[in-house]
Amino acid sequence: MTTAYLGLGGNIGDPVHAMAEALRALDADPATRVAAVSPVYRTPPWGPVEQPPFLNACACVETSLEAEELLALCLSVEASLHRDRSVRWGPRTVDLDLLDFGGRSLASDRLTLPHPRMADRAFVLVPLADIAPQLSVEGVSVIEHLRSLDTSGIERRDLAADWWRTA
Ligand code: ATP
Ligand code: CA
Ligand code: CA
Repeated sequence: MTTAYLGLGGNIGDPVHAMAEALRALDADPATRVAAVSPVYRTPPWGPVEQPPFLNACACVETSLEAEELLALCLSVEASLHRDRSVRWGPRTVDLDLLDFGGRSLASDRLTLPHPRMADRAFVLVPLADIAPQLSVEGVSVIEHLRSLDTSGIERRDLAADWWRTA
């Protein structure tokens, strides 16, 4: 079994519901169990496209899948929740990124680990710090990475701890 960390986000429709549906779909996969889920945060949009604020969360999963198989599962769950990829870094119903897979480093056409942009993104590291503050990303803990990032505008949503089972 491998412990993996996922980043979730969305900014169209009902992103909390979409993230919850995605986590329930991953948990329903016989090879994968959702072990921990962070609170949900409202975060300012990132990147060049003007768009509504995001809701973001992170999850820890235990899986017997290989990294590429877990990515394929995530992409199929996104597709089932109507993810549209027409605009790079554009608005989306749900995005599932593989942040870390058992500490593995790799770079292929389809998958780079750890996720190459996560260390620059407060919207990833704030929720990740709730479930894995000491996780090492490129040799530096999540908490340490966060010290050098601007976390202004990131607000925790007031949801039940098991929001992903009920939303
Ligand atoms: P970003 O990767 O900057 O967060 P994004 O999530 O909007 O942007 P997508 O359109 O969701 O980008 O993903 C494009 C491709 O990135 C996916 O089809 C996948 O093959 C590839 N990819 C590479 N590494 C990863 C990873 N660690 N997690 C998820 N997708 C990855
Ligand atoms: Ca992403
Ligand atoms: Ca993605």
